[in-house]
Amino acid sequence: MAEEQEPKDTKPGFLNPVAGFGVTFKAMFKKRLTEQYPEQQKTTAPRFHGRHQLNRHPDGLEKCVGCELCAWACPADAIYVEGADNTDEERYSPGERYGRVYQINYARCILCGLCIEACPTRALTMTNEFELADSSRADLIYTKEQLLAGLDDGMVDTPHAIYPGTDEQDYYRGLVTEAAPGTERQVAVSKGEVPQEAASTFGEGEPASEKVIRK
Ligand code: SF4
Ligand code: SF4
Repeated sequence: MAEEQEPKDTKPGFLNPVAGFGVTFKAMFKKRLTEQYPEQQKTTAPRFHGRHQLNRHPDGLEKCVGCELCAWACPADAIYVEGADNTDEERYSPGERYGRVYQINYARCILCGLCIEACPTRALTMTNEFELADSSRADLIYTKEQLLAGLDDGMVDTPHAIYPGTDEQDYYRGLVTEAAPGTERQVAVSKGEVPQEAASTFGEGEPASEKVIRK
């Protein structure tokens, strides 16, 4: 087999000591790529994989049903979920179960997004927030309180009843668009029932969204 020939150096030998500066010289006229972070924040791509968020239905009930599918899908074993049953007195999601404990360990998470693909209710999504560094391992474990989405207009914080006359499927069909009037601490009801007791101090017809705790 013929040996590979090394390319011949055609430069005159006396230029060798300064040839390396040619690269530096050319770079001086290129557009600067330095980013003034953190003073100037760069916008991420729309589908950037950042910190997770646990989403809510339009009335404030939680979408997470505590099924643990996200935890099973995670290749880094970064998610810990404990589900629990909703009761008539204390309801967090429209269905039978909700996520009582939810934690993501960002010391392990590689932000791959497999967990959000596995979630059957779109409860878990990822935001564009990327500033996750911390100096303590304990602080890198985000709890449900940290991951749960804030309250938008028309939402009331959990626990509270499902919208009267609806069921879990109505929520996933998008038929519930805001919290029922007087929803706060309302006794949970089944489909077709009318709530017996509403502890709201709001007047009749006054929208529950007036009581929303802003993000
Ligand atoms: S993004 Fe990937 S590594 Fe992080 S919690 Fe989800 S599945 Fe696990
Ligand atoms: S976030 Fe989704 S996949 Fe994970 S426990 Fe909740 S409902 Fe299940």
